[in-house]
Amino acid sequence: MQQFESLRASSLYCKKCQTAMPVREKLLLVLPDKEIYDYLCTGCASSLGQREVTSGEMMMSRATMARQASSRGMY
Ligand SMILES: [Zn+2]
Repeated sequence: MQQFESLRASSLYCKKCQTAMPVREKLLLVLPDKEIYDYLCTGCASSLGQREVTSGEMMMSRATMARQASSRGMY
């Protein structure tokens, strides 16, 4: 499997689409000290990988998501 220890993936190679596709994160599992996200291809919805987010990273990713949501005008 792929490793995403330092890579903040916004697009990954998709075997079905045969190109690098933008991915969206789907929350798979919530554990006491971390959350596990699934990366899904936005073209065919295949799972392209998983990422574990520790509690420290979660605060950062939530801040990023809040910024993205407000920049898109979503409330
Ligand atoms: Zn795909």
